[in-house]
This record gives sequence, structure tokens and C-alpha cells, in this order.
Amino acid sequence: ERRGAVIDGKSIAGQIRKEIAAEVANLKESFGKVPGLAVVLVGTRKDSETYVRSKKKACEEVGFASFGVTLPEDSTQEDVLNHVKQFNDDPAVHGILVQLPLPKHINEEAVLGAVSYEKDVDGFHPINVGTLCMQGRKPLFVSCTPRGCIELLVRSGVQMKGKRAVVIGRSNIVGTPAAQLLQRQNATVTVVHSATPNPAEIVREADIVIAAVGKAEMVRGDWLKPGAVVIDVGINAVDDPSTKKGYRLVGDVNYAEASEVASMITPVPGGVGPMTIAMLLSNTLDAAKRSFGVES
Ligand code: NDP
Repeated sequence: ERRGAVIDGKSIAGQIRKEIAAEVANLKESFGKVPGLAVVLVGTRKDSETYVRSKKKACEEVGFASFGVTLPEDSTQEDVLNHVKQFNDDPAVHGILVQLPLPKHINEEAVLGAVSYEKDVDGFHPINVGTLCMQGRKPLFVSCTPRGCIELLVRSGVQMKGKRAVVIGRSNIVGTPAAQLLQRQNATVTVVHSATPNPAEIVREADIVIAAVGKAEMVRGDWLKPGAVVIDVGINAVDDPSTKKGYRLVGDVNYAEASEVASMITPVPGGVGPMTIAMLLSNTLDAAKRSFGVES
């Protein structure tokens, strides 16, 4: 059995972006309109600014219209809600994204709940989360990072049906929707969290592991069943004086050890990360197609 094949998220995401760009060109030709994504940013966090910039750039590259508003840190909740409502009412905007985290004085639940669930391309609206968890129902949107994980598995030819899957982490954004999606693929899913005793023992039973913890290199090689497929969502900065920035990024999985045991594994960076933006573009394309009356 082969060991340590790399699941190249960067290349798969590039392929998806190409597919999306081709569809955008077709929509433009047929309808004279393109998908539009609006990003709401509140405050001046450097990391959020960087994420927003790369989302806008990705939009422009596939031919989307990109809208956005940057509000001052001391904006009131009402200011933020008003901008969300304007985008809800704007027919050129098909997807709305509120960059998190919001400043502490703003109620995140109220703002995320105010985004029209038909434009909720982050998949954070309670209606979309709810329908994801219901049998026989289909959410309009699913959170981008877990969708990206499943897309990596599908495009790498990994069979999920009948397999044992373990998700480490149960956040609203990653772990919980990842578990739901694996279940929809007919895997048998166990979720491990911070109160789980002996996580290694449980992970060792998994044919498929999705790690979304936020703890640098927590998953060791001997936690894995030989031949397991490993999707590492974690992005953790660890000190490294030998680099120019003084740090480097590692996942939640010890890559050197795990790649000796796993059959396939995603690197960090270059695994799940690039898929998140690709799925945001895909969700926005779907929203636009629905609004144009095109079957998805
Ligand atoms: P959260 O901090 O919201 O959730 C972490 C989860 O891990 C929680 O459910 C927590 O359990 C669980 N956990 C914490 N410690 C342990 C432990 N020792 N053993 C088992 N479970 C544990 O993080 P996110 O889900 O938002 O993100 C997870 C990681 O993924 C981070 O590194 C983040 O940077 C990265 N990320 C990457 C993205 C990408 O695009 N590639 C996008 C989003 C996130 P409990 O619920 O009990 O507290």
C-alpha cells in the first residue's frame, strides 16, 4: 500500500477556480450578468484585512463583481446591520460575507442572522446550519472550510461510504459541519473534542481523519491507522528563528510522522487553506445561478 501521497489542495483549488471562471464567462454571455460577492469588514485587524484582500482578489480573478464596505472599529451594531440589509436588497449582490471576528461590542449572532439565508455564502445562517443537519433537506450553503475538506476527498478518489471517520474539533465553522458532511457521504462518524479521554485511541480506528483543533502538531504518527487518509485543517504559527518572519505555519497533525503512516495527507500550508476560498467562490456562483434561475 502506498504511503504519504500528498493531497495537493493548491492545485485542486486552482482547478476549481478555472472551472468557476469558465462558468462565469458562460453566465455573462447568457445573462449579461456576473456573480457578485459583498464583504463587510469592521475594524482594522491586520489578519482580517489580509483575508478580505485575498477574497476580493480571488473574486476578480474568476470574473465576479466584488463589493465591499469597511466600517470603523467603533461602528454601532445598527451601522453594521444597515450595511448588511443594503446588500440583502441589492440584486447585483448574490453572496454576503461578514468577516469575523467582529469587534466585541457587536453581537455576532445578530449580524450573522441578519444576512439573507439566500445570500449566506459562508453557510453560517441558522437556517442553512439547520437544514445541513436534517435528513432529506438540503442547505443552500455549507461552510466553506468543511466543504473544501470533502471536495478534497472526492477529487482524490477517496471512498467515504461505509468508512470510519473521526473529526477532531466541534466548532460551528469547521468540526461540526465537517461531521455532518461526512455523514451525508455515508461515513460512520465520531467527533472528538476537548473533553474526550484518549483521543489517540479513537483516532486510531479511523479510515479518514479530519483534524480541526488549533493545536500545533497534536496528532502524532502513532495516532493513525496505517493507510488512513488525513485532512489537516489546522493553521498554527510556531516560533522558528531560522525563518525571516521568525515563525512558520504547521497543522494540527505532525506531518513528518503522519506521512509515514497515512496513505494520503494534506500539507499545511497548501492543503485545506486554498480550498476555503475556492468554496467561497463556488457558493457565490451557486447563489448567482439560483438567482438567474439556472439549475445548479
Ligand atoms: P475552534 O477553536 O473554534 O475549535 C477548536 C475545536 O477543537 C473545539 O471544538 C475544541 O473542543 C477542540 N479541541 C481543543 N483542544 C482539543 C484537544 N486537546 N483535543 C481534542 N479537541 C480539542 O477552532 P476552529 O474550528 O475555528 O479552527 C480549528 C483550526 O483550523 C485552527 O487551527 C484554525 O486556524 C484552522 N482553520 C483553518 C481554516 C482554513 O481555511 N484552512 C479555516 C478555519 C479554521 P471544545 O469544543 O470542547 O472546546
